[in-house]
Amino acid sequence: MKDAAHDNACPFEDIAAYLDGELHGEELHIFEVHVEMCKECAGELRTQRQLLCTIDVALTDPMPFCLPKDFTRVVAVHAESDLSRIRNRTERRRALQLCAMLALGAFGLLGAAASSLVFQPVRTLLQLVARVSDLLWQTTYDAGIGLVVILRMVGRSLFANPGGLGLLLAALFAFAISLLLRLIANYHRAQI
Ligand SMILES: [Zn+2]
Repeated sequence: MKDAAHDNACPFEDIAAYLDGELHGEELHIFEVHVEMCKECAGELRTQRQLLCTIDVALTDPMPFCLPKDFTRVVAVHAESDLSRIRNRTERRRALQLCAMLALGAFGLLGAAASSLVFQPVRTLLQLVARVSDLLWQTTYDAGIGLVVILRMVGRSLFANPGGLGLLLAALFAFAISLLLRLIANYHRAQI
């Protein structure tokens, strides 16, 4: 993080609480006044709010970016049925493997979607790889913030529902999907 550049008074930890509607009274007032004056916190608030919207869209709209038919639903059903059976270490490892496969699948899908748009496969693919890795670097910071937001949400779910490892993995899955959607959105933007 770049804490050194930040004013110590910046209430970064309050941003998530604010978005969750957990700030009240004096706390809420102080936060809103600060965000009105502080560009950095206003930007941070905007980023986190957009991320929450992205996650919402990813979870409520099954095909926001024309993914293959039923892709999200099928994957989610598989993930759910797998996660619901997590009991021992072996099954937990299988769930982690599933997450890794989902991540690989997501990136493969991105590549497939991209190559269907172009007609000079090899050269364009190399350019695409370079561009995608650029985007990856650009989104790493956003992804970090997203992870913090999601871990927060998950933490609360675990508190409300102890032993919810499945929820944690489901959240990781949602995070992977939202990251994929962001990459695709950025890619389309970069094309224009
Ligand atoms: Zn600030």
